[in-house]
Amino acid sequence: MTLGNFAFRVAKGLFTMEGDIKMTGAKGIWVFIESERDEIRKVSLETLCEARKLANGLNEELCALLLGDKVESLAELPPHYGADRVFLMQHESLSYHNVDAHLNVVANLVKENSPRILLFGSTPLAKELAPRLAAQLRVGLVTDAADVKIDASGKLVVRKPVYGGKAHATFACAPATPQMASVAPGFMDVKPPDASRKGEVVKLALVAGGKTNVEFIEFIKGDPRTVAITEAEMIVAVGRGLEKKENLSLIEELADKLGASIGGSRVAVDNGWVPAERQVGMTGKTVAPRLYIACGISGQYPHTVGMERSGTVMVINTDRNAPMFKLADIGVLGDVSQVVPAISKRLSEVIAPPKEKAQ
Ligand SMILES: Cc1cc2nc3c(=O)[nH]c(=O)nc-3n(C[C@H](O)[C@H](O)[C@H](O)COP(=O)(O)OP(=O)(O)OC[C@H]3O[C@@H](n4cnc5c(N)ncnc54)[C@H](O)[C@@H]3O)c2cc1C
Repeated sequence: MTLGNFAFRVAKGLFTMEGDIKMTGAKGIWVFIESERDEIRKVSLETLCEARKLANGLNEELCALLLGDKVESLAELPPHYGADRVFLMQHESLSYHNVDAHLNVVANLVKENSPRILLFGSTPLAKELAPRLAAQLRVGLVTDAADVKIDASGKLVVRKPVYGGKAHATFACAPATPQMASVAPGFMDVKPPDASRKGEVVKLALVAGGKTNVEFIEFIKGDPRTVAITEAEMIVAVGRGLEKKENLSLIEELADKLGASIGGSRVAVDNGWVPAERQVGMTGKTVAPRLYIACGISGQYPHTVGMERSGTVMVINTDRNAPMFKLADIGVLGDVSQVVPAISKRLSEVIAPPKEKAQ
């Protein structure tokens, strides 16, 4: 059923939207796509690729919901990762972390189109948006999924780590639609993009903005030293090969130059070099940064299971047979206490110091 051009008032009369959209009934899988600095976030792509499998199993359409400010250039990408259609909405109120604006728009799109399943990547925005949406729609939500499947009766079945990752629990969503879940970063594979795959882009215009309860004032980038390691874009991780606490200053210097967070193996935590909440691995955190530098970490399974979905992996180790080298994109055979300062020195040479402000 085609609604044609339409205009409707969103919750609390805050926005009006217009566009051309086809009704799908209580069918289809939707993925909320987020972008950052002109790139789609990796967790959104992970979620999309996994959702493609669900859509194939159900033989239903996979739609990507791309909201933001000036994000049109990204609209062709979700089909490369499996989406059949992209709902694109651009408005300045949808930039940054404006939960009210996103909630109004997504709630109305869902009410109008009744998707069967709605998935989010577990990001700071989604952590606020998804529960509010679930409450407004009076449906359930399972957060931070490690795995999503559809059972024989069509229910969304979600597995997630519980008790700090010591166990996994499986939840089945109630039949009310949409069945909702957010997907934790780093648990699912991103398939190589297929640039020949095209999808329909449905442009939706938010033609009248209005006040929300929250006003965006300023974007303050998180301090890599304090940001949760699961959110870190780059991680310098230390293991027993750090040898002594005094060497931590070398790691801090490198991390500061890169703008990276510091993590560690369990041995590093046990030695008091890194706080427990920064342990990477089976009993620590699962991370998927763009860059992971493993300094003196042997690469045993309980550690690698927590970082194996990182982007580029650099390994510094004195043992050429260390299993960690199997995961390395860049391997350096050498002593942490010599290699790390050498990298920091080189970075100082190639990274231009910030320019003086013009008077
Ligand atoms: C149930 C269970 C859960 C666990 N959970 C976790 C977990 O969540 N996270 C985790 O990390 N571990 C976990 N472990 C522990 C895990 O099995 C390993 O013991 C641990 O990861 C090893 O840490 P490491 O690599 O720092 O130390 P090691 O295995 O001792 O490796 C040290 C490495 O440093 C290299 N090295 C030594 N000196 C230097 C130097 N000067 N320069 C460069 N390289 C050097 C060595 O060649 C070696 O490869 C768990 C274990 C169990 C049983």
